[in-house]
Amino acid sequence: MSEPASLPFAPGAAWHRADRAALVTALRETETMIRRAQAIQGEILAEMQSRGVPQTFGYADVEAVVKDLVRCDRPEAKARVRRALACNEYTEGAHRIAASAPATAAAYAEGAIGSRHIDSIVKTLAEMPGAVPEEERLGYEKILADLARESSPAAVDRAGRHLLERIEQDHLARGPAKPLPPPPRELNWAWNRDRQLCVAGRLDAVSGALFEKLLSPLAKPRLGPDGERDTRPIDQRHGDAFAELLDHAQRAADLPTEAGETPALVLTMNLADLIPAQRTGSDGGTMRGQQPPMVNGDMPIPASEARLLACDSRVIPAVLGSSGEVLDLGRETRLATTPQRRALGLRDRGCVFPGCTRPSNWCHAHHAMDWSQGGSSDLNNLILLCGMHHRLIHHSEWTIRMAADGKPDCIPPPWLDIKQRPRRNHTFHPIAPDTS
Ligand SMILES: [Zn+2]
Ligand SMILES: [Zn+2]
Repeated sequence: MSEPASLPFAPGAAWHRADRAALVTALRETETMIRRAQAIQGEILAEMQSRGVPQTFGYADVEAVVKDLVRCDRPEAKARVRRALACNEYTEGAHRIAASAPATAAAYAEGAIGSRHIDSIVKTLAEMPGAVPEEERLGYEKILADLARESSPAAVDRAGRHLLERIEQDHLARGPAKPLPPPPRELNWAWNRDRQLCVAGRLDAVSGALFEKLLSPLAKPRLGPDGERDTRPIDQRHGDAFAELLDHAQRAADLPTEAGETPALVLTMNLADLIPAQRTGSDGGTMRGQQPPMVNGDMPIPASEARLLACDSRVIPAVLGSSGEVLDLGRETRLATTPQRRALGLRDRGCVFPGCTRPSNWCHAHHAMDWSQGGSSDLNNLILLCGMHHRLIHHSEWTIRMAADGKPDCIPPPWLDIKQRPRRNHTFHPIAPDTS
């Protein structure tokens, strides 16, 4: 194989002297070269697998060799080995294992198809029922490989899915009824060093569509009280919408329980941290030597965030005295009860912030006077706010007070309205003729 010596191209060639057609040809030819080189590498990997080369050099498997030598990530190494073993014959112990995708291998060796094509075909072959006879299976593989020579990987994906559906129907027609396989769903998560939860997963088509349906209205841009544009980028709006969905789910009355309790976060914080900033003059929270507020025992959060959490939601706050003794283990009695919520829903209908459209079942019950300062959980001290506006009220100069008519007034900060005229949300209460 004298290929590398006769490579027609080298970096730094005088491409500015090539005409346009030559550039197009060169693009095609370099792509062929890359693909053929990948196919050759696959042959090498299969040979390494057969001969136990990794073990000779102290590696666990071929993937580990690739990851280390090529300096790529594990998923990439895995994919290369998977392609290599699908396209090439290799031995495992005393067994000779034939290439599962010979027609694909031939197209790859010619440089006619790329790695994404191969991944698509290998995936379809892997999902093919075991009952399909080998000869028939190879026939399907050839069809897909031929298609890959002249189509995009997405088209090969589609063809693969159709093929699997047809095979499935044929088999249903031929054999005894099989139980329906469970829908393909998975969800993985991990905490990173910044105490953020990173989530990845996949959903079947129906659940996926439901996910989009639920998330998309929540993720719509939301105008400010004076019609200011929502400047959050789309991924942030999706993240906010997802967080809101979780918050809403936690409020559902009939959530399944674990050990007799509905899922609730436990918030541990010092008494001093409960007192809002203007009282202490500082808002980094937490005095020296004291433990920062913790969620579920080991997740520190800022004091300002802790006060927001403690205001509503089904968080159970455990308030600690100066020597760390539990002063008050708040239970749900501290929070708005179901009849109260219902009455609150009738009064406010939804978030009371001007312009907001979140209905009552998406809202927190905010304490107009902080509960840590003796503000009761009575109807006249509770106000419905959606998650976003609850946060805004706690972390901005907007305030809320109860008006003489027993309904909440939102008071804008002086920089927004020098006279600080009270505002109301007219989404749920259209402006009616003055009844007072
Ligand atoms: Zn609040
Ligand atoms: Zn709102």
